[in-house]
This record gives sequence, structure tokens and C-alpha cells, in this order.
Amino acid sequence: MRHEAIQNPTPKNPVARVVIIGAGFAGLEVAKALGKAGIAATVVDRRNYHLFQPLLYQVATAALAATDIAEPIRKILRPYPSVQVLFAEVVGIDAAARKIRLSDGKSLGYDYLVLAAGSRTSYFGNDKWGSLALGLKSIEDSRRIRSELLRAFENAERASDPAEQDRLMSVAIIGGGPTGVELAGSIAELSRFTLARDFRRIRPQDARIMLIEGGPRLLPGFSRKLADYARARLQKLGVIVETNQTVDYIGEKEFGFAGKKIPVGLVIWAAGVGPSPLGRMIGSPTDRAGRVVVGPNLQVSGQSEIFALGDIAYLEDEDGKALPGLAQVAKQQGIHLGRGLADLIIEGKPIQPFRYRSRGNTAIVGRHAAIFETGRFSLKGWFAWLAWAVIHVYLLVGFQHRVIVTTQWLWRYLTYERGARVIAFDDLDHRGSRTKIDADPTASL
Ligand SMILES: Cc1cc2nc3c(=O)[nH]c(=O)nc-3n(C[C@H](O)[C@H](O)[C@H](O)COP(=O)(O)OP(=O)(O)OC[C@H]3O[C@@H](n4cnc5c(N)ncnc54)[C@H](O)[C@@H]3O)c2cc1C
Repeated sequence: MRHEAIQNPTPKNPVARVVIIGAGFAGLEVAKALGKAGIAATVVDRRNYHLFQPLLYQVATAALAATDIAEPIRKILRPYPSVQVLFAEVVGIDAAARKIRLSDGKSLGYDYLVLAAGSRTSYFGNDKWGSLALGLKSIEDSRRIRSELLRAFENAERASDPAEQDRLMSVAIIGGGPTGVELAGSIAELSRFTLARDFRRIRPQDARIMLIEGGPRLLPGFSRKLADYARARLQKLGVIVETNQTVDYIGEKEFGFAGKKIPVGLVIWAAGVGPSPLGRMIGSPTDRAGRVVVGPNLQVSGQSEIFALGDIAYLEDEDGKALPGLAQVAKQQGIHLGRGLADLIIEGKPIQPFRYRSRGNTAIVGRHAAIFETGRFSLKGWFAWLAWAVIHVYLLVGFQHRVIVTTQWLWRYLTYERGARVIAFDDLDHRGSRTKIDADPTASL
């Protein structure tokens, strides 16, 4: 196929063409640093907004609106005239020809390529579960979970059969990492404290929220002490926590593990992500999951003009442990590479090795209860909740978001209110959703 070439922007500082794939936590920081140095760069992203993924679960549970956690890429990069934004999907990388291929058939050449395309939901080989267990990786995912969740309660209110009501009000969350724990706590609070006040026939506070983890305990990235605290907090909220259980069946209206089949209204997949498929396209070594192996200066081995960072990259720390897929890792790598690349392009200085400095791990386990850990220091409860808020406000990209989101947290904290309770018709799965009711919905009305 012949590819039409897109013109790179005319650089003010005409030294090199840099193409950055992905305006996530990593790619944006590279773009900003290059922009500050006046270096011409093109950011290619298939979305026109940067997404603050750590707060996706709050959209999924109606605490925040989708627009609160998305910021236009063009707005973020407005102060950097040398940086061009291209709203396009990358479908191929030709490392030998130093070109990327876009879904519209066009191509874009580069002198340096920064691969920061992140990750996607992975069902670890059970791809048929994709339509049965909703992942949480995009705005669309979070809105779908929110709409299906709220519709399940609405349909339970209309159902006449008590068993069907129970099924509709049963939610299974698969995966006991931070996302699963945060979702379980937030859905439990939504049903116990918010929806409980608004329904007449059903008792949303009796909803069955199940959190299923395959490993021996929740939150393997945290110490046992904090994981036990999180489990106890969730159980206090009424969440049923199952560990050492591998889900082996997901159907239209039930899911199963250990030989049991359990009726369910909604199944959410929080068990894992895998890297973007672009990583395998550059022809360099990857780990088993497909993350591109990079050297300490984030350079891809054997390809001196290609760098990979964030969720798509595999890099070990000084102790030989792989860096985790976290926003703070991606952001720090982006800042490091952006500055290093600017020095390389302008002054020919080599890029220094990257060193990750953890600002601590946090997870929310319900209202004013969180866990926070950094090295040997740990916090739980209200102070950890505050630490979580500070870290996330620091990570939020736009000033507008910091103000809005912080105000919303405070309001919610005081009132238990969930303002974004919107069932958007377009978000619902019309093919055969589990949240539809079986019986004639009007029979008992
Ligand atoms: C639900 C959830 C909760 C999380 N909570 C936390 C948390 O509390 N703390 C924390 O530190 N981390 C958290 N993370 C992890 C964190 O969000 C990621 O580690 C981080 O986003 C990785 O940054 P990145 O720049 O590598 O990728 P991303 O931020 O995912 O950005 C990748 C970008 O590449 C674009 N892209 C992908 N493919 C293409 C293509 N083919 N063509 C064009 N553009 C493309 C995407 O549109 C996207 O904008 C969470 C993640 C999820 C899903």
C-alpha cells in the first residue's frame, strides 16, 4: 500500500523531528519538556483528551462526571507552540524506515520516536469474557459500568420476582488489586448510603457486592497489615471478599468459581491490563506480556532513536524488580526523558539513567478510609485518605480539574451524595445485558 506522508511541523529550532505516540502521563511530560526547549515535536493520540485514569472508578460509581477527569490535549499543550497535536490512531511502526503508520493510511516520519501508548484491559487469554465482564480503562468503560450498575437497580425496582431482584442487585468484581478494592468500596457506599434513600420497593443496602481475588490476599502491592485493614473495612461495608479463588466461568446471568455458579447482575473485570500492541511492532525484545524492554536511559535495545516509557515499557529498578504500571512512574519517566532528549538534541549530551522515586502507594477503601505506604512508613484511615487526596491532586493535570475535583470530594465526603447518576442510553449494552429483567417488568406495578 502507498502511504501519503504527513508533514511534520516546521521546527523553530530545526534540529530533529520527534514523534510522541500517546498523550498519557508519560507522553505529555515529554511533549512539555520538548516544548519548553522549543523543539519541534508531534504528539499523536487517538483521543483528543488526556485521561486521568486513577479516578475512573469514581466516574463508574457516579461520584464524578466523565468530563471532570478528561482534559483536552490541545489545551494542555497550548503554551508550547513548537508542539503539534495529531488526533489519529497509530496502527504500525516501521523502525527501519523511521516511519509510523496511521489508520487513515497516512504515514509520519521521525528522527526520534517516543513510544508512550500505555496499556489496555487484558483478559489473559479469555477474550470471550470481554463482552461479559466490563473492564475499566477508558471513559467509555466507566460510563458503561455506571449505566449498567444504575440500570440494574432500576430494573430490580421493577422486577416482581424476589430471586430476580437479588440477582440484579448482585455485583461481582474480579481482581483484588487497588482498582477492585476501590470499586468494591465505592459501589458498597453508593448502594448502602446513597441509593438506599431513593428507592421504594427494593433495599439497595442489601445489594450483594462480591470481590473475588485469585491470590492469597487483597492488594499484593501493599504490606499484609494494610491489606488486612482494607479487607476488614470492606467487610464492614458489607462487601463479600473471597481470596484464593479463580473465576473460571462468566455467563450472561451468572459467574462461577470453585465449582459454584452464582447469579449476578453485573460483572466487572479489575484483574489486569496488558501493554498496547504497538510495543511488539518495533521488532525489539519484549517481556512475556509484550512490554518493550528498555535500558536505564529508556532507550529501546538496538534502536537508539526509539524510546519507550510508562505502561508500555519494561524497566527494572536497582534491585532487579520491574517498575510497576503507575501514573507516577510514567510521569517521572516522561519528565526525565523530555529533559534528556532536549539536551541530546540541542547539546548532544547523552541521556542519563532514570531512577524512580516512589511517592508512596495509596488506595481508597471507602469514605475517609484509605491506605498509604512508602517504604516502611504506612498510614491508614483518615490521614491516609488525605495523603491520597494530596497525591492525586498533585497528579491531576489541569488547574480547572484540581479545583472541581477537590470540591466534589469534599462535598461527597460531607453528604454521601453522588451527583453523576446518569444512565446514558448509548452506554448500555443492547445485545443482551445481564442487567435486563426476565419477567414482565410491569406485572407487579
Ligand atoms: C482504573 C485505573 C486506576 C488506576 N489508578 C492508579 C493510581 O491510583 N495511581 C497510579 O499511580 N496509577 C494508577 N493507574 C495506572 C496509571 O493510570 C497508568 O500507569 C498510567 O496511565 C500510564 O501512563 P502512560 O502514559 O504509560 O499511558 P496512558 O496514560 O494510558 O496513556 C496512553 C495514551 O496513548 C494513547 N494511545 C494508545 N494507543 C494508541 C494508538 N494506537 N494510537 C494513538 N494513540 C494511542 C491513548 O489514547 C492514551 O492517551 C490506574 C489505572 C487504571 C486503569
